[in-house]
Amino acid sequence: MSGNWTVSHYTGEFSSDTRQNLRNLYSGHCAVCGQRRESPFGHLEAEAAHIHPAQHGGPDTEANGLLLCRQCHWGFDSGWLSLTDDARIIVSNDDAADGHEYFQQFSNDSIEAPSVNDLEPLPRFTQVHRKLSGFDPINAGDRLTIGGLRSGKVQLIDGRQVIVEGSTDEALVVNCEVTSVDSQAVRCSHHTILEQRVKTDSGRAESPFKLDPVDYSFDKLEEYVREIKRDYSGVAQKWEWGRLFRNGRTKYGLSHKEIADTIDVEGASELQVQRAERVYEMFPDRGYEGNDIPFSAIAELQRIFPNTEDARAAYDCIAATGTSLTTMETRAWVELLLSESEVTRETARESVEEHVPKSNVGLSERVSRILAVHDEYLSVFTPN
Ligand SMILES: [Zn+2]
Repeated sequence: MSGNWTVSHYTGEFSSDTRQNLRNLYSGHCAVCGQRRESPFGHLEAEAAHIHPAQHGGPDTEANGLLLCRQCHWGFDSGWLSLTDDARIIVSNDDAADGHEYFQQFSNDSIEAPSVNDLEPLPRFTQVHRKLSGFDPINAGDRLTIGGLRSGKVQLIDGRQVIVEGSTDEALVVNCEVTSVDSQAVRCSHHTILEQRVKTDSGRAESPFKLDPVDYSFDKLEEYVREIKRDYSGVAQKWEWGRLFRNGRTKYGLSHKEIADTIDVEGASELQVQRAERVYEMFPDRGYEGNDIPFSAIAELQRIFPNTEDARAAYDCIAATGTSLTTMETRAWVELLLSESEVTRETARESVEEHVPKSNVGLSERVSRILAVHDEYLSVFTPN
């Protein structure tokens, strides 16, 4: 596949919603040192920090973030600090460098726990942070997402060059496989062929349901949830709901079940709250717009892929083929993936026969569509 440029999802900075949610989750305290400081005019010092950096494809979501004071943010981005998979603080052991004494005091502490358990930092993000910060080795065969390239190169924080072989392009975000590593450079080949995802301008911040980020009541939230149920349908309804549920849960420190029990809107069950929040996470850019893929198909993808990024990648494969699978075809495809049997014309045919009701769409047409999506998927993405 070399020679094909690969541009992956790149969301850039955290949205204003995610930043506010992180302030709420950590009550304005630095997750490392616990300090909380404000300006005389009431502006919070602590800021939202990416764990898996945005320029390396880290998603815009709370579980990929921390709230950190300026000093600890610098420490976290510069190689002094990282996190274990269970969110304990690890500190670089370079005791000759100034700063070691200060950061060493936090070694092995747990970070401040966020007020909502299911939004604490996830291991798949801390693992990337440790590799990029020099705490864990980068090995041949690792998959990295690299952005901010200049003439095909970018520098790691330890000074090593990441060289994407054969590329001269600038500022692309590419999915790479590491081919060799030495003290000077990490060499990669790009390994996927996903077309550039069109960045939509609609953005998650652009919701008509604006809540004052600090000062709003639960009643107001409930009223909006009702209004969305009345005026929206399909994926757009789930997205708007997901955004409000996520904001409400971080503000009030509620689990999915607790907000579902508290809110008095028909249909807002624990399962629906979870699904809606995952739709919101899958499409920070509202990337469902313009695709005719129904929510029930997305629900199938959510069922098989526990990671939101994986569900989104599979969704993009369906969208990229330009022959959108129907919900039932999506089901036939994901059932095959779940069963871990090889996807061939034969197995795809069996799965369609089992899961798709007979209609006037030909069996071989359905099978061809599923195989096209699966080929795209194989070329783009290997699940964790
Ligand atoms: Zn701090």
